[in-house]
Amino acid sequence: MSATPPTSLDLMSLVRREVRDLPSYVPATGAAKKRDRLIRLDMNESPFGPSPRTRAALADFVQTNRYPDFAQSALRSALSQYSGVPVEQVICGAGLDDVFTSLAHLLIEAGDEVVISEPTFGVYRPLFSMHGANVVNVPLSADFGLMPEHIIAAVNDRTKLIVICSPNNPTGNLFSQDAIESICANARCLVAIDEAYAEFAGTSQIPLMDQFPNVMVLRTMSKWAGLAGMRVGYGLVPKELVGAIGHVVPPFHNVTLASSEAAIAAIDDRDFLMKQVGVICEYRDALVADIEQINGLEPLQSVTNFILVRTQFPDARPLVRAIAERGVLIRGYGDPLLQPYFRVTVGHAEENDRFLLALRDSIEEIPA
Ligand code: PMP
Repeated sequence: MSATPPTSLDLMSLVRREVRDLPSYVPATGAAKKRDRLIRLDMNESPFGPSPRTRAALADFVQTNRYPDFAQSALRSALSQYSGVPVEQVICGAGLDDVFTSLAHLLIEAGDEVVISEPTFGVYRPLFSMHGANVVNVPLSADFGLMPEHIIAAVNDRTKLIVICSPNNPTGNLFSQDAIESICANARCLVAIDEAYAEFAGTSQIPLMDQFPNVMVLRTMSKWAGLAGMRVGYGLVPKELVGAIGHVVPPFHNVTLASSEAAIAAIDDRDFLMKQVGVICEYRDALVADIEQINGLEPLQSVTNFILVRTQFPDARPLVRAIAERGVLIRGYGDPLLQPYFRVTVGHAEENDRFLLALRDSIEEIPA
């Protein structure tokens, strides 16, 4: 047998077509090398570290040699108690993105359809496309509202799922209750409501699960509980699907034992964490008021821990880069609809001040 490497073998030809066809991921903000020294207001993270009980749980954590419990019983029962949804209907994953992956495994065969309403969270489209779905966009209205009639009209017998992100990322608004209910009531498919930012909005669609058997609610510990780095997300799913979901959720739920303990401790500390959420909302409102004072900028009202800001520029990315050069990362957009906007996450008071300073200085530099 020859020991010469098979130079003619094109390894990319072995890669699934759905994956090959995906555009390569372009990170929103360059400057990755110095990230740790920068003020990071580009990923909707909490500016606060672990709550006291989470800090203690992680400091005491020793069971690095043990696998997590197959059923994730302790974590799921804490999440059940927190959400009020029976424990059998709680699934978890390594972040909410991982719960979406389980949903794709559960539902998607090549050519199935998933309806989303853009502009929205940028993970839905590539994630479901990668699993062979045809992702159908029913755009939000000009004022970033849901279009329930259009969404219902887009559902056909290949449609498996509608994803509604409320509060929506990146627009920061909650959708109208009537619009959401009308979709749940009229769409003959599953409706997944992404509530990654629900704790900031102080409202939830979980009660809809009692009313509509096709509704599931997806949540995360990344934002309100300051655990983005620990990767804990969860889904509250219809009873009827519990058995089937058990087949696709990985046996260890992908959540490490340390992450699981960190999340359980955070739920125990929820009063403390909800006070921090209140502080973030106060900082947000102050930041909106400050941005409103700057000529040419129009911040949108937000019920989350981030603000979408319309600029007077057709493309806000040069402004985003100028702000990054001053040590503050925020998010700009390549999507033509969002190009005039940037999104800024609410940070600590000093971080927000540094951002405002960088914004005021940078805006002078950008030709109109
Ligand atoms: N959904 C939305 C709307 C989000 O903004 C995010 C995070 N940016 C996620 C889900 C994913 O969160 P996680 O960290 O739990 O994967």
